[in-house]
Amino acid sequence: MARIYFDHNATAPLRPAARDALIAALDAGNASSVHAEGRAARAKIENARGLIARHFGAKPELVVFTSGATEAANMALRPALAGFDCDRLVVGGGEHPCVVSGHGFGAAVSVALDGEGRLDLAALRDALGGAGAPMLALQAANNETGVIQPVAEAAALVHEAGGVLVCDAVQALGRVDCTFAATGADVLFVSSHKIGGPKGVGAVIFARRAVMPAEKLLRGGGQERGFRAGTENVAAIAGFAAAFSEIIASGPAEMARLGALRDRIEAEVRALAPEAVVFGAGAPRLPNTMAFALPGFAAETMVAALDVEGVALSSGSACSSGKVSASAVLAAMGVAPEVARCALRISLGWPNNEQEGVAFPEILAKVRHRMSQRR
Ligand code: PLP
Repeated sequence: MARIYFDHNATAPLRPAARDALIAALDAGNASSVHAEGRAARAKIENARGLIARHFGAKPELVVFTSGATEAANMALRPALAGFDCDRLVVGGGEHPCVVSGHGFGAAVSVALDGEGRLDLAALRDALGGAGAPMLALQAANNETGVIQPVAEAAALVHEAGGVLVCDAVQALGRVDCTFAATGADVLFVSSHKIGGPKGVGAVIFARRAVMPAEKLLRGGGQERGFRAGTENVAAIAGFAAAFSEIIASGPAEMARLGALRDRIEAEVRALAPEAVVFGAGAPRLPNTMAFALPGFAAETMVAALDVEGVALSSGSACSSGKVSASAVLAAMGVAPEVARCALRISLGWPNNEQEGVAFPEILAKVRHRMSQRR
């Protein structure tokens, strides 16, 4: 059997439509040139911008293409905005590292999660109180657990406190509604490679001019209306747009299919190992994600053994620069360290099918049996 790729929250395989659009635009001209080649490149970028703007309910001129969500977070999380200043940064307890570093604010106040991984709204209300306008950075859905955050409720609280909500919609895009109308956010950002587009491209979408940063992150030419200088990566943007239109068109049906597949895998895992702990199972979750632990079976060992058996999935631990550290998200949920070190994450996506859903529990059972004999 071919390998089983269950790690779409890390990155999704390139969709064929995205690959075609990417290849077709590799030779594009410079979108700032006035000749036909330049105008053709410009048309590709503006088509992509229009598509994204329409979906989120934004004006096209308020969509800025970036190199991905990390750059988008760096652009959006700034104290000085075009319309007013924010004085402090408040972040959800499970945010991605690209958000939590504090950016121009120096430091961020983190809001507790409950045991299911949902933001504690009472704690949020407390954190938002105090002098000056807060900026709240909150993800629409968590990358490790798939738990969907109460973004609309948080938006109401932050607006009451005179602040701004910047929403990381990276994992929610195409999986749950993360438009401005659904979230109440002031700024949203997304990344292409999580939806089957090319890596190294994303977008930040502003609801209005007043919440755009006062200062430009990259200075130089006037590209992206001066918000991001440098010749645009036309091919990556075209590939992103192709993946975007596919995921938006297929979203609800695809998510129903993947949700059924995830539920079936989850039921099989629970039947195989009744002691399994499924994180965030009591909260609304993305239909494609399941984070779980088989207590006593260390995640790194399981990931390596499953990889040998042809399954790619992630451990719940953060791994950067080859160093494995405990998951900050699970710690914020109050998961005991000995359980957190056994956390695995399955994240499904467009290529996954029923056969893989049947094969995976059998492979997991085999690996678990082998591991238990070594103990
Ligand atoms: N936010 C979330 C929730 C993510 O899962 C990721 C990717 O891991 C990012 C932000 C960063 O995205 P990018 O790889 O485009 O910088």
